[in-house]
Amino acid sequence: MKKYIGIIAITLSGVGAYFLEMNWRQEIDLELLQDSQLGIVLTRQVSVLSIIVFALLSVIIYLLLRPLLQMETFYSRKQKKLRKIDHSNDPKSGLLYRWKVDFEWTGKPLVTDLEIFCTKHGNTPQKFVENRCPVPDCINHHQAVNRKFIHNHWDSYLVRQWEQIH
Ligand SMILES: [Zn+2]
Repeated sequence: MKKYIGIIAITLSGVGAYFLEMNWRQEIDLELLQDSQLGIVLTRQVSVLSIIVFALLSVIIYLLLRPLLQMETFYSRKQKKLRKIDHSNDPKSGLLYRWKVDFEWTGKPLVTDLEIFCTKHGNTPQKFVENRCPVPDCINHHQAVNRKFIHNHWDSYLVRQWEQIH
């Protein structure tokens, strides 16, 4: 949603500037009839004014829409709870899974941005490269994981958690 705010602000500003310029043009046409030199000057002014109006409207609309985003009312209380379940650590295999929780329009939860890390190499979990641990002599390096299977596993896990949250 955040990325659309800028686009909405610019689009609305563009429409606003367009209508304002249309009004000015109508006035300028009359001026052009009377004095062509004055007409040229005014036409140039309109272009500069349009840009200024466009920029000002963009900023104003952006500032007006921004607080709506910060309210974060987008997710329900139950959805917010589920969104906190965003990782799982398996010390035995040395695998750490991190993901984001999103919801289909039907309300069904699903895992997005799934990332797999190896925790066998000090304090910093090593992010998998091409579905395996990047450290050559690591047990998690030898066999690549089945990402589709893992994704499905955590999707299923979320559905189960969703059923248990009240
Ligand atoms: Zn490793």
